[in-house]
Amino acid sequence: MRLVSEPTRPAPSRPETPDVIELKALRTRQPELADAVDLQLALLEVHRRIHLRIPVPTLDVTEARIARHAAQRRPLVRFADVPAEPGDLRLVLRQTSEVLHRFALIEEAAFRELENLARDGDVAAAAEAWLNRSLAMAEASAPEDTSAGDLDQAVGLALKPFLSRCADAVQPAAGLQVWRLNRCAVCGGEAEFGVIESAEVRRLICGQCGLRWGFAADQCPFCPDGTKGSMTSFATPDRRYQVAACEVCRRYLKSYSTAHGRRPVMPAVDTLATLPLDAAAIQRGYQG
Ligand SMILES: [Zn+2]
Ligand SMILES: [Zn+2]
Repeated sequence: MRLVSEPTRPAPSRPETPDVIELKALRTRQPELADAVDLQLALLEVHRRIHLRIPVPTLDVTEARIARHAAQRRPLVRFADVPAEPGDLRLVLRQTSEVLHRFALIEEAAFRELENLARDGDVAAAAEAWLNRSLAMAEASAPEDTSAGDLDQAVGLALKPFLSRCADAVQPAAGLQVWRLNRCAVCGGEAEFGVIESAEVRRLICGQCGLRWGFAADQCPFCPDGTKGSMTSFATPDRRYQVAACEVCRRYLKSYSTAHGRRPVMPAVDTLATLPLDAAAIQRGYQG
C-alpha cells in the first residue's frame, strides 16, 4: 500500500516558491486549516514537477480574434491546442489520484478506476471530453456542473498544469482587454477568485487555468447576463478580502484587495486563507 509515501516537503536544495512559503505560514497562523493547506501543497508539488516540461503553446491571440470569440462567447482554446502529451497526462493523473486518495477525497472504487485510466485507458479522450464540457457550458452560459463525480474531478485537476500553460500564452496579449465575459477566455472555466485592483478594476481568476481577466466590478460573474445593482458585499476587518454576493442567483465570489493587502494576489493561498469567509457567506444563505 502506498498511502503516505510522497513527501509534500520539497528537497532542501530547491528554493521554496512564494506560494509554498505563504501556505506554510498560513498553516502555522491558522492550524484549523492544516488539512486544506496540506492538500494544496501536495497538488502544487504535482504541478511543479511537470510544469517546466510543458511547453507554452503558440496561439493566435490577436485582438481581432479575441473580439470575434468574445462576441460568440467562444473560448480561444480547443483540446488540440493544449500541450498535453498522453504520457505526461497519465503521470499527472496518476499522481493527482494518489493525492486525492491519500486525503480520502475519492472513493476506493473511483481510485481504482483512475489508476486503470492512468495506466492504459484513453486518457486523452477523457481529458478532451472534460474540456469540451467546460467549453460547451461557457458557450451556453450554463452554470458549472457541481454534480461532477470523482473521476471528472480528478481529470479536471490533472488538466490544470496543461491548461495553465495555455493561460501563459494568452495572459500577456493586449487584446485580452476586449474579453469582458463571465467565463474564462482560455478554457471556459468559472471565476474561482477575484482581485480588486482599484475601485473600477476587478479581475476574475479562472479556477482551472489561472487566467486573469477584467470584469465589471458591479456585475455578478455567475448570472448568465451579468446582473447589475444586486450585489451585496462584506469584507474581513482588515478589508484585505472581500465577498461580493448576488441577490439574484445567490452565489458569491471572494476577492483579494491589492490596496489593502501587502503582496500580490496568490490564488493557491488566498482561496484557503478565506475559508472562514465561505462559512460566513454560506451562513447568510449564499452558495459558492
Ligand atoms: Zn481558464
Ligand atoms: Zn448572480
